[in-house]
Amino acid sequence: MKKLVDLGVLPIRRRSSKGYTPHLLISFRSEKLHIFGIDTTPNEDSHALLITHAHSDHHGSSAMLSQNSVASEKTAKALEIMYGRRFVGTTFKVGDCVDMDGVRIRTYPTGHTIGATAFYWENEVGTTLLTTGDVKDASQLPRCDVLVTEATYGDPYDPQCSFTDDISAFKDAIRENVAFGAYSFGKAQRAVKLLRSLGYKEEIGMDSKSLELTRELMEHMGSLVSLGENGKMSIVPPRDLHRLPDHLDKFVLTGRSCSHQRIKISDHLDFNGLIKMVRDCKPEVTILYHPLGSRPSKLAQYLNENGFTAIPLDAITNVMIH
Ligand SMILES: [Zn+2]
Repeated sequence: MKKLVDLGVLPIRRRSSKGYTPHLLISFRSEKLHIFGIDTTPNEDSHALLITHAHSDHHGSSAMLSQNSVASEKTAKALEIMYGRRFVGTTFKVGDCVDMDGVRIRTYPTGHTIGATAFYWENEVGTTLLTTGDVKDASQLPRCDVLVTEATYGDPYDPQCSFTDDISAFKDAIRENVAFGAYSFGKAQRAVKLLRSLGYKEEIGMDSKSLELTRELMEHMGSLVSLGENGKMSIVPPRDLHRLPDHLDKFVLTGRSCSHQRIKISDHLDFNGLIKMVRDCKPEVTILYHPLGSRPSKLAQYLNENGFTAIPLDAITNVMIH
């Protein structure tokens, strides 16, 4: 924590009578004192709410209702489709700069979902901060002094945390009468893109939410139709696979274990990918703020034992009480 003080960066958690509130606030000075909320619910302390992407565990569904929120155009669009509300904050194209509370922020893609963004800015003592949200592809991320990132597959001792995407199994599964289980936002778009990049040119049938998200967020993805108009190739949320006819071959696209036949395709870096990202970004301090559970602590411990400085969310002791 002392290193962070020297760098002019103060991570803060919020707590109410019900316990800690999600997720993390970052306080720093740039002409004046700023507090940025990272994937957090609206609160009176934050001058800006940075929404890295539209998955529900990053709280865009409530942050989108605040004028202090900022998200990429595609994240904002995805939130509007998923929650049926209007995004009232500031939007930008990933790769552009955006000003929030008088601070110039650069944006970078993380490849986790359509529109997923890392935010990068500098405080008044020249410390650079990068907050990534969830990451699939860290290759475009810049070096930084303070990295705020995820640890979804951050357990060095869990074999499930080391994997490569099994594209060849996916390719082998492309045939008539097949259905893929993929979450409507994120995995479904990855599946469509993969199918097209592997040369599949036929119609793809999708449930209504996945279809709307994919049509609105992606271009040139060929013929996408409603379920039922096409029986050959379907993509539906994993929980709906059992509703499809029994004669279909069914696979779930996931990095986690599941009850169906599984093809390992993940939206996240695996453990080795997370370590490579930290190595490449060369931060003096890494803050692991996501997900809930023990993985941020496990990854922080590993990093601290291997020459880096890392702090998990649990170890942040600066708390604002409301
Ligand atoms: Zn996510």
